[in-house]
Amino acid sequence: MMHIYDDNNIFAKILRGEIPCDKVYEDDYVLAFNDIAPKAPVHVLLIPKGSYISIDDFGANGSAEEIKGFYAALAKIAREKGIAETGFRSIANTGVHGGQEVAHFHVHILGGNIGRKTARPDGS
Ligand code: 5GP
Repeated sequence: MMHIYDDNNIFAKILRGEIPCDKVYEDDYVLAFNDIAPKAPVHVLLIPKGSYISIDDFGANGSAEEIKGFYAALAKIAREKGIAETGFRSIANTGVHGGQEVAHFHVHILGGNIGRKTARPDGS
C-alpha cells in the first residue's frame, strides 16, 4: 500500500499543467479529463485538486468541502455527458490489490452501454 503522496505522479503533473490532458471539467475542487486509453464510449477520470493518494486517504483526510465538491462534480459531469439518465459506472481502484496504477485518487466514470452483457441491435 502506498502511504506517502508522490508529487511526481502523472496526475500531479497534469494538475500542475506540466502534462496536457483532454479536459472535461474543472472547478476549485476537481479536475476531470478523458482517460488516455478509454475502456468505454465515455471514460472520464475525476480527480481532486488536493494531494490524496487514494479513496481511503480522501475519505479519511479530505475536508467536508472537498468531498462535497468531488461528488457534486461527478454528478455534474454525468449529467453533462448524458449518462446520468442511461446509467454509468464509477470505479476507484485502490492500492496494490485494487490494481491502482496512478497514486493520486481518481474515480473512473464509465458510460455508454457498458452495463449490459449484450448490446441491443440499436446500441441502446
Ligand atoms: P488506475 O489503474 O490507477 O485506476 O487507472 C489509471 C488510469 O489512468 C488508466 O485508465 C490509464 O489509462 C489512465 N492514464 C494513465 N496515464 C494517463 C495520462 O497521462 N493521461 C490520461 N488522460 N490518462 C492516463
